[in-house]
Amino acid sequence: MGDEHDANRKGWPLESCQLHVPPLDELAHVLRQGLALHFAFVQVDVVDCPDLSQSPFHLTAPGLGGDPSLVDLGGVPYLVPTVHRDRIYDLADLPAAMNVKDGTVSMIGAGAGPWQHLETNCEMMTNLSLSLEAGKSSSLVVDNGTRLATVDPSGRRILHVVPPKQTRCSLLNNLLVSRGLPRTPVLRIRCQKRTGPDNFVTCMRNTVRQRYGHQPVGMGGVFMLENGQARLHIMPDFSPCPLQTDADVNNWLHFYNATGPLINLSVFISHDPGLDLRVEHTHCFSTHGEGGHYHEDVSPETVVYEGYFTPAERLFRIDRPSQTHGVGRD
Ligand SMILES: [Zn+2]
Repeated sequence: MGDEHDANRKGWPLESCQLHVPPLDELAHVLRQGLALHFAFVQVDVVDCPDLSQSPFHLTAPGLGGDPSLVDLGGVPYLVPTVHRDRIYDLADLPAAMNVKDGTVSMIGAGAGPWQHLETNCEMMTNLSLSLEAGKSSSLVVDNGTRLATVDPSGRRILHVVPPKQTRCSLLNNLLVSRGLPRTPVLRIRCQKRTGPDNFVTCMRNTVRQRYGHQPVGMGGVFMLENGQARLHIMPDFSPCPLQTDADVNNWLHFYNATGPLINLSVFISHDPGLDLRVEHTHCFSTHGEGGHYHEDVSPETVVYEGYFTPAERLFRIDRPSQTHGVGRD
């Protein structure tokens, strides 16, 4: 499956493949029907993307348009059972790896943060725009809205902003990468009052999978969780003992309930074409100091979701672990 590429200049092994891109009207119809099985109120429309750099979204780019791609970087096997501290990635190298040589590249998504920066393992809410001048890797302008979430041994949680030049991550990252162009057509997805057991993103992913089967449809975007609470986790510092099972991972993670509005950066893919993908990953931040990895809302009666999503045209799988397993994928 897919085209094999040579390792890029930083030596990350890279594979890529085309994704199936249904027409937006068709996707809107599919999601409208599917989400209605899980929420009491559902509205899905094709709209020109609003300015996502403004409140309440606070992305660095105004939109999701222009060559949208999913990037699955690293993976859980670099975290579990034991951490691979050599897995450090500089996202400033990502455009070159994807053969983008100029213009702006924007990325949003969910990953593991640069533990060297905060001297502890951390959740990463990637929100970054890089402007490249053709042929001059030295003239890189960074607009960095990334947040990191930490929890210390006493249970104290902190949501950090990062300096503009801090463009590194570690271990794993699941990203929507685009040119960040404004006002391109996207899906606006509004759901209220959850009636089923699955989280908002799983509902979308399963709906798309049921319609498109083994044709992989990848999507990414941003959604607000309003009028409710969500169960999140934050990774504490790396476990001194190996995490062998999902139960070990869940005992190690710090879970808590955060209060909306929460700004969620989300990617999912309906079918893994054999690349050992994380099929769904969502991290959130807020303007009130809460953030982390989204599991589900805990207020189905009152919750309101409003998101803007685009299908991705291409998938890039970078530094896929050679030894893999299914632990810790939730
Ligand atoms: Zn996560």
